[in-house]
Amino acid sequence: MNLGVPTERIKTQYLGAVGKFLERQQFILGKEVEDFERAWAKILGARWCLGTSSGSDALYLALAALGIGEGDEVITQGNAYNATVTAIMRTGAAPRFADIRKDTLLLNPSKIENLITARTKAILPVHLYGQPCDMEKICAIARAHKLFVVEDCAQAHLALFKKKLAGLWGDIGAFSFYPTKNLGAFGDAGAVVTSRKDLYEKMRAIRNLGQAAKNDHRYFGFNMRLDGLQAICLSLKLKTLGAAIRRRQERAGYYDALLKKAGLPLMPVGRDSRVRHVYHLYVVELIEGIDREKLRVALEDRGVETAVHYPLPVYRQPWYAGPRDQCPVSDRAAERILSLPFFENIKTKEQEYVVSALRHCLVHSGAAERV
Ligand SMILES: *Cc1c(COP(=O)(O)O)cnc(C)c1O
Repeated sequence: MNLGVPTERIKTQYLGAVGKFLERQQFILGKEVEDFERAWAKILGARWCLGTSSGSDALYLALAALGIGEGDEVITQGNAYNATVTAIMRTGAAPRFADIRKDTLLLNPSKIENLITARTKAILPVHLYGQPCDMEKICAIARAHKLFVVEDCAQAHLALFKKKLAGLWGDIGAFSFYPTKNLGAFGDAGAVVTSRKDLYEKMRAIRNLGQAAKNDHRYFGFNMRLDGLQAICLSLKLKTLGAAIRRRQERAGYYDALLKKAGLPLMPVGRDSRVRHVYHLYVVELIEGIDREKLRVALEDRGVETAVHYPLPVYRQPWYAGPRDQCPVSDRAAERILSLPFFENIKTKEQEYVVSALRHCLVHSGAAERV
């Protein structure tokens, strides 16, 4: 991961805007935050947008505004990120885990219905790696059972399922602008979007200590506000987000071609032909019999840093003591996935080096039983 180029690109403008910010001294929920909220809503075509302190808080805010709490259940997917699950549990509700599709590693709609109980209040799909879940099927199930839909769009800025953007399918879309995300701030930041004014107003209050107006603490709320300095960064980065995504798609296509030609015992995670994938990550699945840890160490020795998103499903993490659903596909994927070095400005030469290092390490590290 290298954030040098996108950071350098806006540095001068950012520092200039910070100067104005210091003069104006509207440090909390000022013009910069409102400008960004308006701009992000406009790009998405969302009616309402609210900046939040993080993606985790955006998810919590969405669930809290929908009235989800103690005694309720929220269905998410087996390979959801830790923050997705903790957002559910922070409301007092219990998460239920529906397994994922073998090809795309996204929420499998056919695994949702047998988890629905009288306590179920919402479905929380996670558009992992930059590819949206099958929102048509998920929303149809939600409608049939009168459930809310909250989308975790932390990895899917401007991704499409069919012709509709991730974040606009459900009641509320939650975004993260963590620095490494496709739209990343210079610190923690997030946002929620919705087409419902009532939810917008409730979320606006909960985000600001529950205040519907100053000192009118209408709801049980917290400080979950977007910081002005982060809003400045995000507004500047918005201008090149489209180009950054096209660049990611092109770079992902180049990995595809290199890997195909190399014929290695691994496959990129499957793509759904109905989506616009925004490639937050470039993830491959290793075939059975490859020792992932051995391979990662050998790659590291050759200067290739890899990651795993994520090595252990949340329901197997030490802290987790909630309901345990059977998700064999999620369990298996967790053992086999590998995220290759990938960022907006990765160079052709760097990608070629990664693939040749992969070939070398698979043959010589002893990671593969047979290649
Ligand atoms: C990054 C991320 C989050 C959490 O966002 P933060 O801004 O780090 O709180 C939630 N869900 C997914 C899928 C993420 O990738």
